[in-house]
Parts: sequence; structure tokens; C-alpha cells
Amino acid sequence: MAKRDYYEVLGVEKSADQEAIKKAYRKLAVKYHPDRNPGDKEAEEKFKEATEAYEILSDEEKRPIYDQYGFAGLEGMGGGAGAGGAQYSHAFHDFSDLFGGAGGGFSDIFDSIFGGGFGGGGARSSRRSGPAAGSSLRYDLHIQFKDAVYGTSADIHFKHNEACSACKGTGGAAGSSKKTCPTCNGMGQVRQGNGFFSIQQTCPTCRGKGVTIDKPCPNCRGTGIEEKNKMMSLKIPAGTDNGRRIVIPGQGDAGENGGPAGDLVVVVHVDSHPLFERDGQDLYCAVPISMSQATLGCDITINSLDGKKVTIKIPSGTSNGKLLRIKGEGVPMGTGGRKGDLYVKLMVQIPQHLSGKQKDLLQEFMKLENPSTNPDLMPLSKLES
Ligand SMILES: [Zn+2]
Ligand SMILES: [Zn+2]
Repeated sequence: MAKRDYYEVLGVEKSADQEAIKKAYRKLAVKYHPDRNPGDKEAEEKFKEATEAYEILSDEEKRPIYDQYGFAGLEGMGGGAGAGGAQYSHAFHDFSDLFGGAGGGFSDIFDSIFGGGFGGGGARSSRRSGPAAGSSLRYDLHIQFKDAVYGTSADIHFKHNEACSACKGTGGAAGSSKKTCPTCNGMGQVRQGNGFFSIQQTCPTCRGKGVTIDKPCPNCRGTGIEEKNKMMSLKIPAGTDNGRRIVIPGQGDAGENGGPAGDLVVVVHVDSHPLFERDGQDLYCAVPISMSQATLGCDITINSLDGKKVTIKIPSGTSNGKLLRIKGEGVPMGTGGRKGDLYVKLMVQIPQHLSGKQKDLLQEFMKLENPSTNPDLMPLSKLES
């Protein structure tokens, strides 16, 4: 079945502002809410359609993508950025989860448009909450310039939530028994509402588990989860760029009710170097040479980034600012990549203090050179060759 355009679904102009979009959705949500239309499949579909349209058009990132590329542009964005993203989009693709799921997108949306003013009202049971994925965690790792170029290993220390070691994640002390939660009658969700319109929330008593424990585990106070310090040794490959993200699956927070753990995302920050710069695989540095070295040409030896001696042939007649390429002395090749080069910028130094003999020789040289005293102008771009 072809999908209807989101603007058409909400009945708003393409130029509609957030206020108009919110208003249009509120009208449709109230009209087609399943609680007002029990057993009405068409109303249910309309409600679902409007909710999906609102989810996209109220999203500052997704709306422009939809405007430009349509539905195709949004494909694969589902589990997008940010904690709980996967859960959020999942809730919108499966209608039953929309209402029964643990927290997630649905109540977020309702809180944001109706201000969460659904307090009061009796609790009514509905459906048990399912597994929820654990949060992904971010770790910012700072490494030295040289280590990023040649590769290194780094020990990272972080905290994450694991299943409690004392109760294996059950939340109960030894010999404790589980009872159906009296607040939600084991459903994990409570419905709060003001008559015709109501929303479901995770049960505050059992936090969605549907059961209460008579003797909570003393180690985790019944949560089943324990914060643990972790240490991992991380291999940083040669050629790592600033901003690179290394994802370590399953090392984020533990999931709930049997859900998968989140990931640990290591974001690499590379410090700058006082003498070297980097552009992709290539390294850049500058070397001072004397006026006579530049004029006559010579060999010089410099220390490369890793301390290796590299001999450079300076041709005679080298201008100030000339860039020499030393092949293969840049960032070492990654898997299948190109080995980078080292670019050396030659900076000709004009002597400030001359001995008497040097002065005499230069005077002699100038007489022979006989430079023009009214030279023609040259293009500024020729300043460095
Ligand atoms: Zn425990
Ligand atoms: Zn409960």
C-alpha cells in the first residue's frame, strides 16, 4: 500500500511551523485515539499514520530529509542517533509496542504535546513490558599526534551497568520469592487518563518487570543492575584520524528484562603536534636552510616524526617556501590504503649578523651578480614556489 504524504496526513501546508503541526496532530490524535474508537481498525490505522507523520515532521533533523528525499531518505534512519533511538523507532513501527512498550517514544510525544498533564485517574492494567536495550555509552579518548599516526594501544577505564553479580540480575536476595506486582497486576504498565484519553506508563512500583520481590537483593537494592568499573585495552590502528569513532559492541549499559546491552562508543581526539601537521595520510613540517644552501644546493638530514633520520636533497636555486615531497615518509599505510608522504617546506634564512669576511665576500658576490636596482613587479602568487 502506498504511503500518504506526511503533510497530507496531518492536513498542513509544507510551510507549516511546529505550532501548526503540533495542533494538527493533537486534533487527529484525539479524534482517532484507540481508546475513543475501541475495535475500530480504520481509526487505529489513522492514529498510527498521524503519529508517524508527527514523529517525522516535528523532528528538526528528519523533517528536512523527508522534504528533500521523501520516505526513501528516512529509510535506515530508524535506529538513529542518541540513546533509546532503536527503542523509539521500534515503537513506531509496531503498533502493539506503541501502546505496550516500555516507556519509549509514545509517551515522550504525548508528554511533549500535552505537557504530561495526565495525572490522576485509576491504574488499569494492560500489557507486560518487553526487553529494553541498554544505553550506549560514549568515551572520549585523547591520544598524542604521533600515536595516531603510527598506532598505539590505550587502556580505557569506564563505568557501566552490568547485571548484578550477587543476584545475577534477578533483583532478589537468596531465598526471596517473586510476587505479581499489585500496582499493575503483573502487566508492567499502568494506564493513566482523564476519561476518554489516556496514556500508558511503565509501572512505578515494579518498573515494568510485572513482579515485586519480597527480599530485594542488598547488593543492587532490587534493581538487578550494578555499576561496575571496567578497564579495557584498546588497539588504536596506525593512521587514526581525529574524531574517529570506535564502537565496542555490548560494552555499554546492560539491557533490562533480557534486552541486549548497549555499545561503548570511543571517540578519538588527536592532540596537535608543535612541529608536524597532518592532512589525511600526508605529514607536513618546515625546515630552515641557509641562503648559501638554498643557492648552491646540498643534502640535509632531519628527524622525522618517529625520530628516524631522513636525508633530503636540496636542489641548487631553491626559493624560499619551496615544498619538497619525501615519498613514503608520511602516515604508514592502513589496510589497503596508500602510504602517505612527508612534505618539507624549506624556509630560507637571511643572515642577520655577518663577520667582516662574510660581508666582504657578499659585497664581492653582489658586484658580480649586479642585481637590478629598479626591478619589475612580480605576481604575489609567485612568492612561494
Ligand atoms: Zn542484585
Ligand atoms: Zn507493577
